[in-house]
Amino acid sequence: MKVPPPLNRRQWLKLAAATTTGLVLAPRLPAASPAVAAARITPPGLVQLSLNENAFGPSPRALAAMQAHLGEVGRYPFALAPQLVRTLAEKEVVTPNHILIGSGSGELLEAVGMYLGRDGGEVVSAVPGYFQMVGAMQRVGARSVAMPLNARLEHDLDAMAAAVGPETKCVYVCNPNNPTSTLTPAADLRAFVIAMAERTHVFVDEAYLDCADDYAANTLVDLVQAGHNVTIARTFSKIHGLAGQRIGYTVMAPELAKAVRPLMTGSANLLGVVAAQASLADPDYIELLRLRIKAGRDALMGLLDNLGCHYAVPQGSFVFFQTGRPIAKFQAAMRAEGILVARPFPPLLDWCRITIGTEEEMMRTHAAIRKVLG
Ligand code: PLP
Repeated sequence: MKVPPPLNRRQWLKLAAATTTGLVLAPRLPAASPAVAAARITPPGLVQLSLNENAFGPSPRALAAMQAHLGEVGRYPFALAPQLVRTLAEKEVVTPNHILIGSGSGELLEAVGMYLGRDGGEVVSAVPGYFQMVGAMQRVGARSVAMPLNARLEHDLDAMAAAVGPETKCVYVCNPNNPTSTLTPAADLRAFVIAMAERTHVFVDEAYLDCADDYAANTLVDLVQAGHNVTIARTFSKIHGLAGQRIGYTVMAPELAKAVRPLMTGSANLLGVVAAQASLADPDYIELLRLRIKAGRDALMGLLDNLGCHYAVPQGSFVFFQTGRPIAKFQAAMRAEGILVARPFPPLLDWCRITIGTEEEMMRTHAAIRKVLG
């Protein structure tokens, strides 16, 4: 192989100038609007409401922070990630040793699941529910004991308590639940979690809780603060609109965090860390999004009331309703109208989950639902 000759001083200065210009220009790149970003990932002309993403996009401060750091993506984020851990610890009123950051909260659901399921046993959860952690436990040899939701499509706490036994390694609760968007009544859930945590580990996934009407009344993070055998998971993928940046975290006992850390295979990415930090510093934008999501939920409930469709009372960023026909048929009919709705959630095979999109997207969605179900 021919080795290129070393640059002379003039060539080097020219290269340095070009590189510097590039670096200075990089942070000034125009902001990619949420609509443009969506258009690149979603097939043109379709409204993507199937994945529980945030169609409104991240805080302008998060976008600006990412742009400001574009020139640094050649560096590892080792110095920045601990700062985010400290910010999260302050927010959750715990020590930094209580916090693990993951590549999305999904990575943490997997790692904690693999740790808790490593000797087999059982994981008690609800069905239909979010199965990432249950799946991780099954992969390492644990068995799933999935209890049906109650008539309001909330966790059936009595049934779940009855299913907990000597083999139970974990109770997984998703609140609000995915796919039903229901909150389990706060006082009941709190009493259940405290009682179960005497017997086994309880993992509460609060991925969508920031979208609910009353976060403070429903979060159970104080149980971790008080030393109960409980883990809370949160993500920047939902209300913070940073799903593509893959940042989530758990609040858990420091001993458990220490045991789980070696099982994690990802690491925080630089733009995700700075975006998360900036988004946490913009609570007004997050509150505005919460109100827009709530308005979208309320409007969709109004439409479903008009059409006489049953729905679960929603508190997340999505609505789960009964279509009265096989979901595959409804899904295909909605796609023909340009709207992507979620996959089937057995055993409720005539129910549909729709994520709340922008106001414009929801107008198209209402028209499509009216046409398909009307
Ligand atoms: N928990 C729940 C309830 C979810 O619905 C999801 C994703 O949809 C996740 C966790 C994982 O999300 P992420 O890995 O993007 O943080």
